[in-house]
Amino acid sequence: MILPLQKGILYGPINSRRLGKSLGINLMPCGYKLCSFNCVYCHYGLTDVLDLNVNKHIHDLPNTDVVLDEIEQGMKSSLKFDYLTFSGNGEPTLHPHFREILTAVAVLRNRYRPDVRIALLSNSSGITHEEVRMSIDKIDLPIFKLDAGSEKRFKQINRPAQGVSLEKVFESLKSIKGIYIQTVLMSGNPSNVSKQDLDNYFEKIATIEPVEVQIYSLDRPVPNENIKRVVPTQLKQIAATGLKKTGVKITAYYRK
Ligand code: SF4
Repeated sequence: MILPLQKGILYGPINSRRLGKSLGINLMPCGYKLCSFNCVYCHYGLTDVLDLNVNKHIHDLPNTDVVLDEIEQGMKSSLKFDYLTFSGNGEPTLHPHFREILTAVAVLRNRYRPDVRIALLSNSSGITHEEVRMSIDKIDLPIFKLDAGSEKRFKQINRPAQGVSLEKVFESLKSIKGIYIQTVLMSGNPSNVSKQDLDNYFEKIATIEPVEVQIYSLDRPVPNENIKRVVPTQLKQIAATGLKKTGVKITAYYRK
C-alpha cells in the first residue's frame, strides 16, 4: 500500500505510536519524493529523485520565510499537538537551510507553545554534514535511522544515493550524544534479522551508545512483496537480546 505524499509544508496532527499527537513539517517538495535513500519498505513507494545534494532541486523546496510563516500560523492555531516533527516527503536535513529553519522554529516554539517538543525523523545521511550535526542539540527528540550493521545490507535495504555509505553514517552517529535510533526489521529478501546481521547491528549500537533504540517491523503492507513482517514475539526477543549485548535500552513497537 503506497501512502500519498504530503501536499504541503505542515501536515497532521497525526497520531503517532511514539510521539503522541505530532504536527509534521515537510521541508521537501510537495509533488514528489526527494530523498537520499530509496528504502525497500518505504510507504511512499520508490524515491522519485534519489540524491544527497538537493541544490539541483532548490526551486522545488519551500523557502525559509514561507516555512516559518506556516509554522507560526500552526503555533497560533487551535490545533492540539505534543510534537512538531521534521519528517515529510524525503530527508528533512537535506534542506540547505535546515539549521536556520530549526533555530527559528525553536524560537517560535518557546514563544507560543513552550510545552511542545521538537522531533526529527532522519535517515541519518544528513548528519555527515557538520552544520547539521551542530544543530542536533536544538532538537528534543532526534531520531536517526539505522537498519543495517554491514555495508552490504545497508545498500540492499536503504539503497542510498551515490556518496552515502554506512561507514560515513556510522562515523557521524557515534560522534553525537543524546540521540535515538530507529530500526525497521524485516525478513524475506533482503532480511536484517539473521544472527550475523543482528550481531553486526548490535556491535554498531554498542559503539553509538544512543539513549534508546526503537525497533519495529512492517505493520502495514508495503509496496514490496519480497520482504516480510517480523512478528511481535521475535521483535521482543531481539530487543531483549540487544539489551544484553549492548547495554542500550531497546523498545519493540508493533501493532497489536
Ligand atoms: S529514508 Fe524515509 S522517506 Fe526516504 S526512502 Fe527511506 S523510508 Fe522513505
